[in-house]
Amino acid sequence: MKISEKFNKDRTVFSFEVFPPKKTSSVDTIYSTLDELKELHPDFISVTYGAGGSSANNITAQIASKISEMGITSAAHLSCVNNTKEDILRILDEFKALGIENILALRGDIVPDVEPKHDFDYASDLVTFIKQHGDFHISGACYPEVHMDAPDMDTDIEHLKIKVEAGAEHLMSQLFFDNTAFYNFLEKARAAGINVPIEAGIMPVTNKKQIERMVSMCGASLPHKFARVMQKYENNPEALRDAGIAYATDQIVDLIGSGVDGIHLYTMNNPYVARRISENISSLL
Ligand code: FAD
Repeated sequence: MKISEKFNKDRTVFSFEVFPPKKTSSVDTIYSTLDELKELHPDFISVTYGAGGSSANNITAQIASKISEMGITSAAHLSCVNNTKEDILRILDEFKALGIENILALRGDIVPDVEPKHDFDYASDLVTFIKQHGDFHISGACYPEVHMDAPDMDTDIEHLKIKVEAGAEHLMSQLFFDNTAFYNFLEKARAAGINVPIEAGIMPVTNKKQIERMVSMCGASLPHKFARVMQKYENNPEALRDAGIAYATDQIVDLIGSGVDGIHLYTMNNPYVARRISENISSLL
């Protein structure tokens, strides 16, 4: 099923994100995680590309296809900056053969020592290309606290509008811990004429190292009240996990109350945490 159909109903969409197992692990390790996530009835599950798994084979596509076979709508992430047009055509053919209908079209990070291929400079170029070569639902990424390469929010939103006009029908946000940042971004995006559904990306914090890494990678600000709790329980993993679940729940309750289109939960392949959050909010969706 195409993701756009999920947003036609009068309820908040609730989706999950998983990543492929590391190259050293068997792909089967993700399947038990998916079995548990299925029980939580997400609207769709998206599978990351490149990060963690290998982009040289089609592991993202295999997992997305497996999710569809399980009866859950899936989306495959696809980044373009290090791919040529021929690479992307081959991947789109694999997606079609595996019955994948939904793609999160991404530029991908520009990393030191890897020269971009320059067939696609921005995600919007990929969106245009995908539209020319198949009948996929296309999603895009957005950044409530501004993408790290953008000079400011207004410019970033102008670029986001180009991506939506190219054919991105739905946006999923970068993780954030301060809902005010999301509301400010949403107001500006709507004022700029971006009218597609925008899902809020929520990552439950379950260990201190993980969050420090994420915050340094994506530039999300950490509200003082949460930093304080992390500090207090940094040596008590159970308490930190429970605090992370409570904080994420609190964010989600506020977002749903404010009428957000959807919640995209970064599960970190942790079904226990996804379950506890789902139970906390299931009656609100
Ligand atoms: P773009 O939309 O192209 O934007 C990148 C930068 O270019 C921005 O600063 C933007 O303002 C600017 N820009 C855009 N268009 C123009 C233009 N026409 N002219 C000038 N400047 C422009 N990465 C992975 O490798 N694998 C994943 O699976 C993955 N999943 C993700 C899922 C989500 C929900 C999110 C939010 C991010 C994900 N990422 C993933 C990270 C993403 O690849 C990086 O954040 C990357 O740096 C930007 O990708 P993008 O698609 O947002 O790029």
